[in-house]
Amino acid sequence: MGGIGSGSWFRGCSKTTTESQHRVDIRWLKKQGYLVPGSFGVLSWACRGEQTGFINYRMKEDRIVLIYRHRINGGEWEDVEQHISIDQTSCNYGGYRTWFLCPRCLKRVAIIYGAGKYFLCHHCYDLTYSSQQEAWEDRMLRKSRIIKARLGVKNPIGRIIFKPKGMHQKTFDRLRFQAERCEYIGWINMGRKLGIKF
Ligand SMILES: [Zn+2]
Repeated sequence: MGGIGSGSWFRGCSKTTTESQHRVDIRWLKKQGYLVPGSFGVLSWACRGEQTGFINYRMKEDRIVLIYRHRINGGEWEDVEQHISIDQTSCNYGGYRTWFLCPRCLKRVAIIYGAGKYFLCHHCYDLTYSSQQEAWEDRMLRKSRIIKARLGVKNPIGRIIFKPKGMHQKTFDRLRFQAERCEYIGWINMGRKLGIKF
């Protein structure tokens, strides 16, 4: 179990972009026995023997709390405390798999990356770091519109009520959940950007 000072060295240097980021792999934490409520310690990264960063963590019942300092381009250090929910899904062969819920898109992911101020999944950082991409909220709303169209809802703000003929109930439920989630996240982020509270 991780106590203060229990250094945990993640592989930190590699050629690919995601690999060169500070990352936390929940499978690794589980293997080390750190995913126990009340457990706490330090996670650190190194590159060629040099420490490149560290964070403190604290395990709660249903989430991990990451405590660290962040600064942009040599600016002022800022204290950050980030809470990341933990989810579990059962495996076909018994047991269960543990996931982080990315704080931004709520996707289940095994690895989160500290590529900016917060630890997020790679999908979120791919979007953030590419100026070629449309805004995050636009992408979410567009995704919602595409799924809705597949479910026969032409109006982008229309509700999904009827299951299309021939579609499995499970598929319908999954797509409806995805569309509603994307729409919700899209509007919330849009609102945040514009300073509106929904
Ligand atoms: Zn994400």
